[in-house]
Amino acid sequence: MLTLSQALERIRPSPTVAITAEARRLAAEGRDIIALSAGEPDFDTPDHVKAAAHAAIDRGETKYTSPEGLPELRRAVADKFRRENGLDVAPSQVVVSTGGKQVLFNALIATLNPGDEVIVPAPYWVSYPDIVALAGALPVIVPTTAEAGFKLAPDALAAAIGPRTRWLILNSPGNPSGAGYAAAELAALAEVLLAHPDVWVLSDDIYEHIAYPPYRFATIAAVEPRLAGRTLVLNGVSKGYAMTGWRIGFGAGPEPLVRAMVKLQSQSTTSACTISQWAAVAALEGPQAHIAERGAAFRRRRDMVVARLNAIEGIACPVPEGAFYVYPSVAGLLGRRTPDGERIATDTDFVRALLAATGVAVVPGEAFGLAPHFRISYAASDATLAEACDRIAGFCARLQG
Ligand code: PMP
Ligand code: GLU
Repeated sequence: MLTLSQALERIRPSPTVAITAEARRLAAEGRDIIALSAGEPDFDTPDHVKAAAHAAIDRGETKYTSPEGLPELRRAVADKFRRENGLDVAPSQVVVSTGGKQVLFNALIATLNPGDEVIVPAPYWVSYPDIVALAGALPVIVPTTAEAGFKLAPDALAAAIGPRTRWLILNSPGNPSGAGYAAAELAALAEVLLAHPDVWVLSDDIYEHIAYPPYRFATIAAVEPRLAGRTLVLNGVSKGYAMTGWRIGFGAGPEPLVRAMVKLQSQSTTSACTISQWAAVAALEGPQAHIAERGAAFRRRRDMVVARLNAIEGIACPVPEGAFYVYPSVAGLLGRRTPDGERIATDTDFVRALLAATGVAVVPGEAFGLAPHFRISYAASDATLAEACDRIAGFCARLQG
């Protein structure tokens, strides 16, 4: 008989990954599916990045790298943090991993002990609480509200900090809400943190490049340099450079933490894909024009989806500052019934019935720790998004009661 670890019993399969796989399966069966569940840009990786990968293969750059990453990439990452974020980072403070997800995994597994606590504002990206739980520690979920822009309030942070708090995880622009913290909002959180020198900050900046003016991206260690000695900045090429499948993420933080993460990585994946690391050097150092061009397309889609959803009676959709998600509330639809008599009691009921009736796949708010909402990824063509919104509107209009 197969016995599984107790650690594994503390987690569930990633719901965003699972729903996207399910949508793919239904589409392969021939069903007319519109999958708005995946958290990845629909754009292609820029051509000069692909060319750099071909060139790396042709040069024979096909062996392991040292676990912390290629020196060229660590330097490019340190330069990026200095140039774009005003962070004073040396290459020795950088670790390159197989996606930002592995940076998160390494940081938490390398630092947490049973009984430790990690503050996770909700709604949250699905992997935060589960990796904390895998480490045997306790996620302390702090709910936010749509009225407060889905942002953690300084007094709520202060109230959540206890003697076992090891980390605060901040994600801005955020998945799934798209909420972006302004520099002044980060400064207010930093003020609370300055009174608690043992609490570290994991700043997940992976959506940095998808931010809509007048919102301006800011990162907490630059806003409050006194926190830099206990902040891990997580970033990567997946979202800003449309490179999800290349699996390159990076972290920058104090050297003892980075060394611990590298030690763990040396016993798991060894090093991130060498070819992808060369591609990431080209992404960070090459032309950046695609960021603004694609940002404009994302903004147009955001505005269209928000307007169309808000025109549906029972749905309320806030306007996000960044990322490529909207996180509307379905509170106004709960208690209604589908034409088949199925009662919509939760956002999960809503999402299931929507998929069955219309083929539109989205992710329920329950997965992100704040209900009743659902997440749409608008990283899809305008025509696809318009069709999806029509189907959602039709579905909602048919609900009774
Ligand atoms: N952080 C957030 C908030 C995300 O949504 C993602 C996407 N899965 C990641 C980190 C990690 O992305 P990747 O592993 O592709 O770098
Ligand atoms: N971050 C993306 C999402 O939320 C990718 C899937 C995942 O790793 O969770 O959909």
